[in-house]
Amino acid sequence: MLTGTSGVVDHRLERRAVINEYKRGRISRDSVCDANSELIRAARNLGEPTSVRCPICEEVNVVLLTYVFGHGLPKHGRCVTERKEVEQLQRTDHDYAAYVVEACPGCSWHHLLRVLPIAGRRRRSAAQ
Ligand SMILES: [Zn+2]
Repeated sequence: MLTGTSGVVDHRLERRAVINEYKRGRISRDSVCDANSELIRAARNLGEPTSVRCPICEEVNVVLLTYVFGHGLPKHGRCVTERKEVEQLQRTDHDYAAYVVEACPGCSWHHLLRVLPIAGRRRRSAAQ
């Protein structure tokens, strides 16, 4: 786990480790392709396209989904699709966390890529 100066937590190393374990046959496809139907529906309808081939099925490209957690949001997070929505949260007095997830609409592979803090107004205008 790498934590950058901006507070971003990067999960790419874990992702690579999981893929390696899968390729070596140490973990089953079922255990890495277990995205729930809601996540896959979101991936198909709201996912941001990438040019990254799914590391598991190698048939389709993965998409990115961003879920935001924090004050007043559902427990399972809110899937945000527009920059505008993040900017709205930044104007509040609360801090949020954005979870960027990679998902494959083909085989249901999914993995957390990174977690980014979304600082509210109060935090950014220094402690008062
Ligand atoms: Zn796939």
